[in-house]
Amino acid sequence: MQNIHHIYINGQFVTPHGTQVQELINPTTGQPRASVVLGDETDVHAAVAAAKAAYPAYSRTSKQERMAILQRMHDAVAARSEELVQVMVEEYGGTLPFCRASVQRAANSFLHTMQLLETFDFVRTAGSARVVLEPLGVVGIITPWNSSYGFICSKLATALAAGSTAVIKPSELSAAQTQILTECLHAAQIAPGLFNIVNGSGDTVGAAITAHRDIAKISFTGSTAVGKQIARGAVETMKRVTLELGGKSPNVLLEDADLDLAIPTAVAAFTFNSGQACLAGTRLIVPASRLDEIQQRIKVAVDALIVGAPADAGTQIGPLVNAAQHARVQRYIALGTQEGATLLTGGTGHPPGMENGYFVKPTVFVNVRNDMAIAQEEIFGPVLSIIAYDSEEEAIAIANDTRYGLQAYVSSRDQARANRVAAQLVAGRVFINGLYDEPLAPFGGFKQSGIGREFGTYGLEAYLEPKAMMGYSTSHESP
Ligand code: NDP
Repeated sequence: MQNIHHIYINGQFVTPHGTQVQELINPTTGQPRASVVLGDETDVHAAVAAAKAAYPAYSRTSKQERMAILQRMHDAVAARSEELVQVMVEEYGGTLPFCRASVQRAANSFLHTMQLLETFDFVRTAGSARVVLEPLGVVGIITPWNSSYGFICSKLATALAAGSTAVIKPSELSAAQTQILTECLHAAQIAPGLFNIVNGSGDTVGAAITAHRDIAKISFTGSTAVGKQIARGAVETMKRVTLELGGKSPNVLLEDADLDLAIPTAVAAFTFNSGQACLAGTRLIVPASRLDEIQQRIKVAVDALIVGAPADAGTQIGPLVNAAQHARVQRYIALGTQEGATLLTGGTGHPPGMENGYFVKPTVFVNVRNDMAIAQEEIFGPVLSIIAYDSEEEAIAIANDTRYGLQAYVSSRDQARANRVAAQLVAGRVFINGLYDEPLAPFGGFKQSGIGREFGTYGLEAYLEPKAMMGYSTSHESP
């Protein structure tokens, strides 16, 4: 059993003031694998004090100094990437390909942010005014368990690029991943206080960060319900918030879609990260004229998926993160049948022979109406709803009939038609004919999928406050 009993404050691994211990279960075996000591409000105060003390000097650093820090952080994370992958597979249950991609993305987020900084203009003009984009102060970063390294690294990289210092609260379900990532970041040898990491529960550590008067902004990824709580709490001190929340993303297949491309894309889109992804394409919106053919193809593809131990090279779907998540997905699968949808494949219960871990059967429902709970609520497991339409207008209406607006997918052999439909989908990102990775593209949602954007220029600007100076003279600047 691993015991995780340190948090990271002011450049040092320290024993938390909090004493509550949480046991962590291996999702593949259902057996205890670690315990973590949780921090409390006192730990948050110490972490914020360290970040606040480090802020004045750090906020005045040059682009070059920040880029050097980001480079060192990249190198330190990349140097232990295989270990990071192993810990993620074991603790989280992510498949090997997903964890490898996740670690690489986490390390690369420092490089992408450096690349962005290189050409980013912190000083602009508006009419006769000089506009300086200033860092906000200490930033609070609150992250979930479904891609812990990536969330921490990309948010921290952006905060540091902006000139802010940070206090991070990861999910305690990712405590072992946090431990090794913190060791990497510590090895980058940056000034104490620039980042601080406090393990702890959402309602103590998360709430203390939300309420803290010395925190100027919160960047949060997680559920819409918690995002709303954070936004409500943050307004008290007028904190800026970036909220990356849930999704129920539509995947629109137009009549002329190339099914050889669209079906594998649809299956990957709802089973990506074992279905525990905010951007998952969980509503497949298909032409009634091709319904039978599409259903058959989806069933064949889903039945061929390999559910298994995440450390096995061939596994495509691993266990869900914990018992609560497993129970939640089971509840939704049962609810789908109760609501009158028809199971095409999958269903409740563990896949045969996998009763010990938190495994679920990849599940597809047909005869789904868009007003059913399985079509409206984020399930966060490998569960797909197939919904039929008769016209392009109806397809768009169904796609947009959701409280979410994070991501959307569209497939058509006719690029102009795909573009036209994509333009009408209300989502922060639209993928046309495939899955893409563009780290500099803005990421975030319309409607209840969140507030603000991450990544690239839009993401960096969300960590900056414009200050306009009128009557400023550049000829009187100090050298
Ligand atoms: P949460 O939104 O509850 O957790 C995300 C993070 O917020 C965690 O670090 C959590 O801490 C913290 N948190 C919880 N309550 C508060 C609070 N009051 N103030 C500040 N921080 C808080 O996600 P869950 O892990 O509970 O997952 C539940 C559902 O949320 C999933 O089934 C899925 O639908 C959705 N979700 C969406 C994600 C996304 O990427 N958009 C990611 C994860 C979940 P703690 O771990 O202690 O609760």
